[in-house]
Amino acid sequence: MNEKRNLPAVDRVLAQLADLIEAHGRQLVTGCIRAELAAARESLKHGLPLPDEAALLAAIQRRANDAGQANLRPVFNLTGTVLHTNLGRAQLAEEAIAAMVEAARSPCALEYDLASGGRGDRDDLVSGLLAELIAGGSPDIAATIVNNNAAAVLLTLNALAQGKEAVVSRGELVEIGGAFRIPDVMRRAQVKLHEIGTTNRTHAKDFQEAIGPKTALLMKVHTSNYAVTGFTKSVDEKEIADIAHAAGLSFMIDLGSGTLCDFAAHGLPAEPTPQQALAAGADIVTFSGDKLLGGPQAGLIVGRKDLIAKIKKNPLKRALRVGKTTLAALEATLRLYRDPDRLAERLPTLRLLTRPVTEITALAERVLPTAQAALGELAAVSVEACSSQIGSGALPVERLPSAALVCRPTARKPGKILLAIEAAFRGLPTPVIGYIRDDTYHLDLRCLEAKDEARFVTQLQHLKF
Ligand SMILES: *Cc1c(COP(=O)(O)O)cnc(C)c1O
Repeated sequence: MNEKRNLPAVDRVLAQLADLIEAHGRQLVTGCIRAELAAARESLKHGLPLPDEAALLAAIQRRANDAGQANLRPVFNLTGTVLHTNLGRAQLAEEAIAAMVEAARSPCALEYDLASGGRGDRDDLVSGLLAELIAGGSPDIAATIVNNNAAAVLLTLNALAQGKEAVVSRGELVEIGGAFRIPDVMRRAQVKLHEIGTTNRTHAKDFQEAIGPKTALLMKVHTSNYAVTGFTKSVDEKEIADIAHAAGLSFMIDLGSGTLCDFAAHGLPAEPTPQQALAAGADIVTFSGDKLLGGPQAGLIVGRKDLIAKIKKNPLKRALRVGKTTLAALEATLRLYRDPDRLAERLPTLRLLTRPVTEITALAERVLPTAQAALGELAAVSVEACSSQIGSGALPVERLPSAALVCRPTARKPGKILLAIEAAFRGLPTPVIGYIRDDTYHLDLRCLEAKDEARFVTQLQHLKF
């Protein structure tokens, strides 16, 4: 007997899946039916029984719902790292989101001067705002925006020092995650790296002695993702600027993360700002849009107007420029900085970083019973103190006191169970990303905001191990 005959025809299955076709379209559903029928024929070949019709329909539905789901999905970031590069870094402010939507929906004056009716320049959307926020509105300061800070460094080096040398301390030849290494970027920018000093100590005379006929730039790189401590010496920015200017050279600082607000005033560890960099005499400063600034992915190049003009003329600028949605979000984010009093309330990055530990602990206590009920006998859940980090290389050694839901497996050998718990949280409708440490699974609740609490709690009933 040929059991294959018992498999229904594609058209007959299609006729039973009107709702699925409505949700995902006939083509996708047909593909899923074919795939499941092929899988059934394959099991038959291996002597396995055919699925009954209900099981077959359920498998097709699962397959179609999986395929119909977006690949880029929202998640709960409970990793304890606020600016998590793999989870998209900064969450945007509502004002920035609204501006992006608006720019996406209708034509907008991206490169159009509404006053004259002539052609405009997309950088002008934020250049004046940045000069206002960073340099007290100085007319000598301008800005240009590219895709990310790596692009900002590459473009600046190529525009200002191609075929010449840039001088950098050996203590600052950093590697940022994802293959961004200063020496490699220099090579790609066709700039010769002139290393000076040692890993732990660089002196003013090292800079002075390095300057020769081929030197174009002195450069400082903020050592954002590590700290050199102990017997160390670096040259302060003002001193490097004076040395550069006495020799008729430019001085650029790659800040990495750039917040425009005074972190110390918000009770956070101090972080160097572009304002300080320019005030100390830097000619150009570069920083990311989506790190501490709390905006969209972008690279901001701010500094002397004549140098910015030169950078903008470089053909790489055209290749690295950003689109209208990015500029819309960036402009809206920057506008929030005009009102420092309300910044911590409106800018999610700052709001999350300054969230009081008492509030996080109270939230953890509220969620605890539901989490314990969902985990049942598998693990004991408790609320414990933990420490969050800022992430994205900002302030690598500083920690912020926080509170976590800690799941401690009851089994004597917890390894496999921990992985199962982790996978179950990842498998929720809105995946939850925590971390395993010391034989426990942690959910740092710093980034679970009140507006999402109900959604988080409700979906815990779907946990499947
Ligand atoms: C993060 C960082 C970069 C890269 O910035 P992206 O915006 O991620 O491209 C470059 N330099 C430093 C010092 C950084 O911290």
